[in-house]
Amino acid sequence: MNLLDIPAGLWAEKFRELGEPPYRGRQTAHWVFRKGVTDPQAMTNLPPSTRTRLEEEEMLGIPSLESAHISVDGTQKLALRLADSPVIESVLIPRKGRMTLCLSTQAGCGIGCRFCRTAAMGLIRNLSPSEILGQWIQAMRHLGGSGEPSTDRLLIDHIVFMGMGEPLANLDALVVAIRSLTHPEGIGLSPRRITVSTSGLVPKMRLLGEANLGVQLAVSLCAPDDLLRREIMPVGRIYSIAEILEACREFPLKNRERVTFEYVLLGGKNDRPEQARALGRLLAPFRSKVNLIPFNPFPGSPFERPEGDVVQVFADILSGFHITATIRKSMGPDVLAACGQLARENIPAAGSEYREETVS
Ligand code: SAH
Ligand code: SF4
Repeated sequence: MNLLDIPAGLWAEKFRELGEPPYRGRQTAHWVFRKGVTDPQAMTNLPPSTRTRLEEEEMLGIPSLESAHISVDGTQKLALRLADSPVIESVLIPRKGRMTLCLSTQAGCGIGCRFCRTAAMGLIRNLSPSEILGQWIQAMRHLGGSGEPSTDRLLIDHIVFMGMGEPLANLDALVVAIRSLTHPEGIGLSPRRITVSTSGLVPKMRLLGEANLGVQLAVSLCAPDDLLRREIMPVGRIYSIAEILEACREFPLKNRERVTFEYVLLGGKNDRPEQARALGRLLAPFRSKVNLIPFNPFPGSPFERPEGDVVQVFADILSGFHITATIRKSMGPDVLAACGQLARENIPAAGSEYREETVS
């Protein structure tokens, strides 16, 4: 049993079940979520018997940090190894006074978008809540600090579920992880600072809404019509754009919050002015913003980056429809840390000396 697979708010109750005083559960959660400590022997306010039990029953296991690659723009890509060997990635993005952590929810991805490098790996398996939250803990340790609120603010203040995998294909683990991220006895992050990005799994979008977590929603639309969408995102054959928009309309958001539509701009494929106008017509009646992501190439990728001022022209056309369009700057493309570039290969098994380019 891994405690991190249980929402932080229930640790006290779990400790009671284990025959320990409930407050020991809260103390343990404080070490793990606020201080980033998962070695029970370092939890100095716990009695030796509790520490030994946590250790022997391996109740606080998380993935190990295998390497960290730093980009010239300050973005850091962390590679973490799961206990059964697959490697996943998280990305730390410092920008505009914020520190955003991009989390993976699956090893690989089974959705198969043609513009995404992770798709080529296929789905290896879902991550458990402890493997999702373990990314936060390792990232926090890597930054060299604790998440203690008394050190005035959290080192990492925004979370985006935009790493490897389709978060809604692993909804149960995602929900547990979000509960621990937001609970005061867990990490205590405001849910408004958490964004879940999906390729548009309509029934799961509804379930996420019903869970009423207060998180932000982003949907990778990437095409203004179903025909083109099906070609570049095979999942479009299962859920139409109309169904996705309907699920977005129903998604619970606070007053001024809006759904974000992500649109990867593929040169000559979906970046033409008439496609911008079609997208504008589609989204104009809708409270939304659009995030344009110029395609990030990777070895062997079948698409090109948009040329010249195409991205700006596309954004300007959307503005003409009173849609807020932002252009996402690629962070960390030199270390393949940018959107759609995450995938691990050529990593030797644990224990070997793969350490070049490592920053620690
Ligand atoms: N699976 C989820 C979240 C992870 S992908 C989803 O698809 O939404 C995060 C974002 O990266 C998505 O908006 C996706 O469309 C975008 N993306 C994927 N491959 C890309 C690439 N090669 N260049 C730019 N953006 C890409
Ligand atoms: Fe999976 Fe998202 Fe990549 Fe599509 S874009 S293959 S859903 S990770």
